[in-house]
Amino acid sequence: MEEDILINLQEILDRIEKAAIKSERDPGEIRLLLATKTVPANRIKVALTAGQTLIGENKVQEIKEKYQDLKAILHTNHFIGHLQTNKIKDILKYDISCIQSLDRLDLAVKLHQRLLFEKKTMEVLIQVNTSNEESKFGVSPDKAIALVQEVAQLETLKIKGLMTIGLFSAETEKVRHCFRLLKHLQEQIKALQLPNVEMKELSMGMSGDLETAIEEGATIVRVGTAIFGQRSYPDSYYWNENS
Ligand SMILES: *Cc1c(COP(=O)(O)O)cnc(C)c1O
Repeated sequence: MEEDILINLQEILDRIEKAAIKSERDPGEIRLLLATKTVPANRIKVALTAGQTLIGENKVQEIKEKYQDLKAILHTNHFIGHLQTNKIKDILKYDISCIQSLDRLDLAVKLHQRLLFEKKTMEVLIQVNTSNEESKFGVSPDKAIALVQEVAQLETLKIKGLMTIGLFSAETEKVRHCFRLLKHLQEQIKALQLPNVEMKELSMGMSGDLETAIEEGATIVRVGTAIFGQRSYPDSYYWNENS
Protein backbone atom coordinates (compact mmCIF):
# COMPACT_ATOMS: atom_id res chain seq x y z
CA MET A 1 0.00 0.00 0.00
CA GLU A 2 1.10 3.50 -0.81
CA GLU A 3 0.20 4.81 2.63
CA ASP A 4 2.31 2.12 4.24
CA ILE A 5 5.38 3.21 2.33
CA LEU A 6 4.93 6.80 3.44
CA ILE A 7 4.32 5.86 7.07
CA ASN A 8 7.29 3.48 7.08
CA LEU A 9 9.47 6.08 5.46
CA GLN A 10 8.62 8.63 8.12
CA GLU A 11 9.40 6.05 10.80
CA ILE A 12 12.83 5.42 9.30
CA LEU A 13 13.58 9.13 9.05
CA ASP A 14 12.61 9.46 12.72
CA ARG A 15 14.84 6.51 13.67
CA ILE A 16 17.76 8.06 11.77
CA GLU A 17 17.24 11.40 13.46
CA LYS A 18 16.97 9.90 16.93
CA ALA A 19 20.08 7.79 16.47
CA ALA A 20 22.00 10.79 15.18
CA ILE A 21 20.98 12.95 18.10
CA LYS A 22 21.82 10.17 20.54
CA SER A 23 25.35 10.04 19.18
CA GLU A 24 25.61 13.83 18.94
CA ARG A 25 25.73 13.82 15.18
CA ASP A 26 23.98 16.08 12.71
CA PRO A 27 21.15 14.02 11.12
CA GLY A 28 21.94 15.83 7.87
CA GLU A 29 25.26 13.92 7.68
CA ILE A 30 23.39 10.65 7.19
CA ARG A 31 21.88 9.76 3.84
CA LEU A 32 19.10 7.24 3.45
CA LEU A 33 19.51 4.83 0.55
CA LEU A 34 16.39 2.91 -0.41
CA ALA A 35 17.35 -0.72 -1.03
CA THR A 36 14.88 -1.50 -3.79
CA LYS A 37 15.60 -5.08 -4.82
CA THR A 38 12.35 -6.88 -5.76
CA VAL A 39 10.38 -3.63 -5.31
CA PRO A 40 8.39 -2.67 -8.42
CA ALA A 41 8.96 0.74 -9.96
CA ASN A 42 5.54 2.10 -8.99
CA ARG A 43 6.29 1.52 -5.30
CA ILE A 44 9.75 3.05 -5.61
CA LYS A 45 8.10 6.08 -7.23
CA VAL A 46 5.98 6.61 -4.13
CA ALA A 47 9.12 7.08 -2.04
CA LEU A 48 10.82 9.24 -4.66
CA THR A 49 7.77 11.45 -5.00
CA ALA A 50 7.78 11.84 -1.22
CA GLY A 51 11.22 13.43 -1.49
CA GLN A 52 13.67 10.54 -1.34
CA THR A 53 16.53 10.82 -3.80
CA LEU A 54 18.86 7.84 -3.42
CA ILE A 55 18.14 4.24 -4.38
CA GLY A 56 20.29 1.11 -4.61
CA GLU A 57 19.77 -2.05 -6.62
CA ASN A 58 21.48 -5.45 -6.36
CA LYS A 59 21.07 -6.77 -9.87
CA VAL A 60 21.77 -5.20 -13.24
CA GLN A 61 18.70 -6.93 -14.64
CA GLU A 62 16.45 -5.15 -12.16
CA ILE A 63 18.02 -1.76 -12.84
CA LYS A 64 17.31 -2.34 -16.50
CA GLU A 65 13.70 -3.36 -15.92
CA LYS A 66 12.89 -0.28 -13.83
CA TYR A 67 15.05 2.24 -15.67
CA GLN A 68 12.47 3.70 -18.06
CA ASP A 69 9.81 3.96 -15.37
CA LEU A 70 12.03 5.79 -12.91
CA LYS A 71 13.90 7.98 -15.34
CA ALA A 72 11.39 10.82 -15.19
CA ILE A 73 11.89 11.36 -11.45
CA LEU A 74 15.20 12.93 -10.56
CA HIS A 75 17.18 10.60 -8.31
CA THR A 76 20.58 9.04 -7.76
CA ASN A 77 21.23 5.35 -8.28
CA HIS A 78 23.91 3.32 -6.52
CA PHE A 79 24.73 -0.33 -7.07
CA ILE A 80 24.90 -2.40 -3.88
CA GLY A 81 24.91 -5.99 -5.15
CA HIS A 82 27.49 -8.50 -6.27
CA LEU A 83 28.79 -7.34 -9.64
CA GLN A 84 29.90 -9.99 -12.07
CA THR A 85 32.58 -8.92 -14.52
CA ASN A 86 30.41 -9.93 -17.48
CA LYS A 87 27.85 -7.30 -16.40
CA ILE A 88 30.23 -4.33 -16.44
CA LYS A 89 29.36 -3.15 -19.91
CA ASP A 90 25.68 -3.41 -19.11
CA ILE A 91 25.74 -1.57 -15.80
CA LEU A 92 27.41 1.47 -17.36
CA LYS A 93 24.29 2.09 -19.45
CA TYR A 94 22.07 3.07 -16.53
CA ASP A 95 23.44 6.22 -14.90
CA ILE A 96 24.76 4.47 -11.81
CA SER A 97 26.70 7.10 -9.90
CA CYS A 98 28.41 4.83 -7.38
CA ILE A 99 29.23 1.13 -7.14
CA GLN A 100 29.24 0.43 -3.42
CA SER A 101 30.23 -3.20 -3.73
CA LEU A 102 33.69 -3.15 -5.28
CA ASP A 103 35.40 -6.03 -3.52
CA ARG A 104 38.13 -7.48 -5.72
CA LEU A 105 40.94 -6.34 -7.94
CA ASP A 106 40.00 -8.22 -11.10
CA LEU A 107 36.61 -6.50 -11.08
CA ALA A 108 38.26 -3.12 -10.49
CA VAL A 109 40.70 -3.61 -13.34
CA LYS A 110 38.00 -4.66 -15.80
CA LEU A 111 35.75 -1.81 -14.72
CA HIS A 112 38.64 0.61 -15.17
CA GLN A 113 39.39 -0.68 -18.65
CA ARG A 114 35.78 -0.27 -19.72
CA LEU A 115 35.54 3.21 -18.17
CA LEU A 116 38.70 4.25 -19.99
CA PHE A 117 37.18 3.03 -23.23
CA GLU A 118 33.96 4.98 -22.59
CA LYS A 119 35.86 8.01 -21.27
CA LYS A 120 33.95 7.93 -17.99
CA THR A 121 34.72 7.79 -14.29
CA MET A 122 32.87 6.00 -11.50
CA GLU A 123 32.58 6.56 -7.77
CA VAL A 124 33.11 3.40 -5.77
CA LEU A 125 33.04 2.16 -2.20
CA ILE A 126 35.13 -0.81 -1.18
CA GLN A 127 32.93 -3.53 0.31
CA VAL A 128 34.46 -5.22 3.33
CA ASN A 129 33.22 -8.50 4.80
CA THR A 130 33.38 -7.40 8.44
CA SER A 131 31.31 -10.33 9.72
CA ASN A 132 33.54 -12.95 8.12
CA GLU A 133 30.50 -14.88 7.00
CA GLU A 134 31.16 -16.96 3.92
CA SER A 135 27.76 -16.14 2.51
CA LYS A 136 28.64 -12.49 2.16
CA PHE A 137 30.71 -10.73 -0.40
CA GLY A 138 33.40 -8.22 0.40
CA VAL A 139 37.15 -8.18 0.78
CA SER A 140 38.33 -9.59 4.09
CA PRO A 141 39.30 -6.88 6.59
CA ASP A 142 42.99 -7.83 6.57
CA LYS A 143 43.17 -7.38 2.79
CA ALA A 144 41.06 -4.24 2.57
CA ILE A 145 43.84 -1.68 2.82
CA ALA A 146 45.91 -3.39 0.15
CA LEU A 147 42.89 -3.46 -2.15
CA VAL A 148 42.28 0.25 -1.62
CA GLN A 149 45.92 0.96 -2.47
CA GLU A 150 45.66 -0.99 -5.69
CA VAL A 151 42.31 0.45 -6.75
CA ALA A 152 43.63 3.94 -6.03
CA GLN A 153 45.98 3.53 -8.96
CA LEU A 154 43.12 3.06 -11.39
CA GLU A 155 42.36 6.69 -12.13
CA THR A 156 38.84 6.21 -13.47
CA LEU A 157 37.71 4.82 -10.11
CA LYS A 158 37.04 7.44 -7.45
CA ILE A 159 37.12 5.79 -4.04
CA LYS A 160 34.70 7.56 -1.70
CA GLY A 161 34.69 5.24 1.28
CA LEU A 162 33.77 1.79 2.54
CA MET A 163 30.66 -0.37 2.67
CA THR A 164 29.71 -3.37 4.77
CA ILE A 165 26.81 -5.62 5.67
CA GLY A 166 26.82 -6.21 9.42
CA LEU A 167 26.46 -9.61 11.05
CA PHE A 168 22.87 -10.83 11.21
CA SER A 169 22.47 -11.18 14.89
CA ALA A 170 20.16 -10.04 17.65
CA GLU A 171 23.26 -9.38 19.73
CA THR A 172 23.85 -5.70 19.21
CA GLU A 173 27.43 -5.78 20.45
CA LYS A 174 28.44 -8.36 17.85
CA VAL A 175 26.87 -6.25 15.13
CA ARG A 176 28.55 -3.15 16.53
CA HIS A 177 31.88 -4.88 16.26
CA CYS A 178 31.44 -5.09 12.47
CA PHE A 179 30.70 -1.39 12.17
CA ARG A 180 33.60 -0.43 14.45
CA LEU A 181 35.90 -2.49 12.33
CA LEU A 182 34.81 -0.61 9.21
CA LYS A 183 35.29 2.73 10.98
CA HIS A 184 38.73 1.65 12.13
CA LEU A 185 39.72 0.68 8.60
CA GLN A 186 38.47 4.05 7.37
CA GLU A 187 40.72 5.80 9.86
CA GLN A 188 43.72 3.72 8.95
CA ILE A 189 43.20 4.42 5.26
CA LYS A 190 42.67 8.13 5.85
CA ALA A 191 45.98 8.26 7.67
CA LEU A 192 47.74 6.95 4.58
CA GLN A 193 46.60 10.02 2.62
CA LEU A 194 46.51 8.14 -0.65
CA PRO A 195 46.11 10.19 -3.80
CA ASN A 196 42.76 9.60 -5.55
CA VAL A 197 41.19 8.28 -2.32
CA GLU A 198 38.53 10.04 -0.30
CA MET A 199 37.33 8.23 2.77
CA LYS A 200 34.27 10.24 3.68
CA GLU A 201 31.55 7.63 3.21
CA LEU A 202 30.73 4.72 5.49
CA SER A 203 27.79 2.81 4.05
CA MET A 204 26.54 0.56 6.83
CA GLY A 205 23.30 -0.21 8.65
CA MET A 206 20.07 -1.69 7.32
CA SER A 207 16.47 -2.08 8.56
CA GLY A 208 17.45 -3.96 11.69
CA ASP A 209 20.67 -2.30 12.74
CA LEU A 210 20.74 1.26 11.44
CA GLU A 211 20.86 2.82 14.93
CA THR A 212 24.02 0.92 15.81
CA ALA A 213 25.58 1.84 12.48
CA ILE A 214 24.81 5.52 12.96
CA GLU A 215 26.29 5.43 16.45
CA GLU A 216 29.46 4.01 14.87
CA GLY A 217 29.69 6.63 12.14
CA ALA A 218 27.52 5.58 9.17
CA THR A 219 27.05 8.27 6.51
CA ILE A 220 24.75 6.11 4.33
CA VAL A 221 22.20 3.64 5.70
CA ARG A 222 20.59 1.21 3.27
CA VAL A 223 17.00 0.33 4.11
CA GLY A 224 14.67 -2.03 2.28
CA THR A 225 12.18 -4.13 4.22
CA ALA A 226 11.41 -1.54 6.89
CA ILE A 227 10.10 0.72 4.12
CA PHE A 228 8.79 -1.58 1.39
CA GLY A 229 7.86 -4.66 3.41
CA GLN A 230 9.13 -8.23 3.33
CA ARG A 231 10.67 -9.53 0.14
CA SER A 232 9.51 -12.81 -1.34
CA TYR A 233 13.05 -13.90 -2.23
CA PRO A 234 15.46 -14.94 0.47
CA ASP A 235 18.44 -12.58 0.73
CA SER A 236 20.74 -15.47 -0.12
CA TYR A 237 19.44 -15.06 -3.66
CA TYR A 238 21.26 -11.75 -3.76
CA TRP A 239 24.18 -12.43 -1.52
CA ASN A 240 25.47 -15.78 -2.64
CA GLU A 241 27.65 -16.67 -5.55
CA ASN A 242 25.93 -18.51 -8.42
CA SER A 243 22.69 -16.65 -7.92
C1 LIG B 1 18.78 -5.81 0.79
C2 LIG B 1 19.96 -5.02 1.19
C3 LIG B 1 19.87 -4.01 2.15
C4 LIG B 1 18.59 -3.67 2.88
O1 LIG B 1 18.25 -4.69 3.77
P1 LIG B 1 16.92 -4.60 4.64
O2 LIG B 1 17.16 -5.55 5.75
O3 LIG B 1 15.81 -5.00 3.75
O4 LIG B 1 16.77 -3.20 5.11
C5 LIG B 1 21.02 -3.29 2.43
N1 LIG B 1 22.19 -3.55 1.83
C6 LIG B 1 22.32 -4.51 0.90
C7 LIG B 1 23.64 -4.74 0.28
C8 LIG B 1 21.21 -5.28 0.56
O5 LIG B 1 21.37 -6.26 -0.35
